[in-house]
Amino acid sequence: MAAEPVTQTSKPLPTLFELGGPGARGTSLPDTDVPKVERSNAVPAHLLADDPPPLPQVGELDVVRHFTRLSHRVFSIDENFYPLGSCTMKYNPRVNERVAALPGFAHLHPYQDEADVQGMLALLYELKRYLAEIAGLAEVCLAPAAGAHGEMTGLMIIDAYHRDRGQDRRIVLAPDSAHGTNPASCTICSLDSHKVVSRPDGRVDLDDLRRKVDDHTAALMITNPNTCGVFDDQIADIADILHAKGALLYYDGANMNASLGVIRPGDVGVDVMHYNTHKTFSTPHGGGGPGAGPVGVTEKLRPYLPRPTLLRRDDGTYGWNYDMPKSIGRVRSFYGQIGVLVRAYTYIRSLGRDGLRRVSNRAVLNANYVAARLKERYPLPFPGPYAHEFITVPQFEDQGITERDFAKRLLDYGIHPPTMSWPIMHCLMIEPSETESLASLDRFCEVMLEMADEAEHHPERLRSAPHNTPIGRLDEVAANRKPNVRWKPE
Ligand SMILES: *Cc1c(COP(=O)(O)O)cnc(C)c1O
Repeated sequence: MAAEPVTQTSKPLPTLFELGGPGARGTSLPDTDVPKVERSNAVPAHLLADDPPPLPQVGELDVVRHFTRLSHRVFSIDENFYPLGSCTMKYNPRVNERVAALPGFAHLHPYQDEADVQGMLALLYELKRYLAEIAGLAEVCLAPAAGAHGEMTGLMIIDAYHRDRGQDRRIVLAPDSAHGTNPASCTICSLDSHKVVSRPDGRVDLDDLRRKVDDHTAALMITNPNTCGVFDDQIADIADILHAKGALLYYDGANMNASLGVIRPGDVGVDVMHYNTHKTFSTPHGGGGPGAGPVGVTEKLRPYLPRPTLLRRDDGTYGWNYDMPKSIGRVRSFYGQIGVLVRAYTYIRSLGRDGLRRVSNRAVLNANYVAARLKERYPLPFPGPYAHEFITVPQFEDQGITERDFAKRLLDYGIHPPTMSWPIMHCLMIEPSETESLASLDRFCEVMLEMADEAEHHPERLRSAPHNTPIGRLDEVAANRKPNVRWKPE
């Protein structure tokens, strides 16, 4: 390769395969003292390749530099503002990491004897009591590994409850403002999801709900605050409508960062809910994981919870109870994503009751502040006040500018694009989150307002964005239709 000057924003980095060369090694191992086995004896002939696979051969320092350079190109909440609607990309306090990494927690093995892990069990037990208290529900299961997994668990509990009462209820209603995982979870549980329409203000149309609830309705699954950024304050009426027909109310609590300490779902008639602890109670969760989706239920649903449940015995020790004949069974190997749960525990303990309420007040304030500053230039299809996020549908069709162009241009300013085209076409869904300072919210608003001017006067700058990133505008159709994710020798 000819010598070329490099800058942070130069061309794509070479892959590991293109670095190093024959004989380069990342490690130096001592000579083996295990007798050599002839390849042909150890591996069946049909599995043997003629040549060894072309693995990269790279020295240790080059490997370190390669991955360190790549890490600088990762967009992260620790470096930049990340207003990705619905995902709650807020700051994850470092104290969580310190506690989760304590050897007494990090080095446990799930096959260890109960007597050896009493500290961890005590932590998990307290965490589930906190979550039950925050939700106003009787019991919590910590096992589900993500929000969507919590939804599946909750629906299985609802299904088990109806079956146990000899009832055939296979229909789950979901408002059109529900998170996309809600209907998907119904399908996974072999339940049929039917839509309930929302009013223009983003709240459930109660008349439509009344028309649709009957003896075949298992539950309504509501995301609240919903994906329009609106808190549905009719929630107690919704619960009454369902309960009157023997159906249950499922509450998608992934957006609880808008209502901690303000409203308890259990107090307004919710029967089952899941948390997204990685969102609400802060675990780094970009790129798909890890997470935890604990499920809370009312007293009457306790018997159906996944097995085993964690209990505190009269002598003060903790242990697992497997004696649950009506349980839906195991939903996960072992006991859940323990590292995420330790972070949630730490977060709750470090904030306390008043701190949690302040989290939500701040999340709501930040979202409404940004919405108010942008509304002159960015139309808001749902009237406020908003919960922790809001939706705008930019109107620059005359200039040929879509929400995608705004998303791309934001990258030039080091801002992660908001969620796009969901839950309504051509929208941007903005969740500033509670941890951003006034200065960072103001900067975002100024960038957005500047972009609105640009859309009017220099639309080409938006259409060709991003300009300051290592890689410019991608051909997204080709990337989706013909994904090329494997390096091949030229
Ligand atoms: C994120 C989210 C989910 C899904 O949670 P995962 O942990 O990604 O499975 C479900 N509902 C809502 C409202 C969400 O925001």
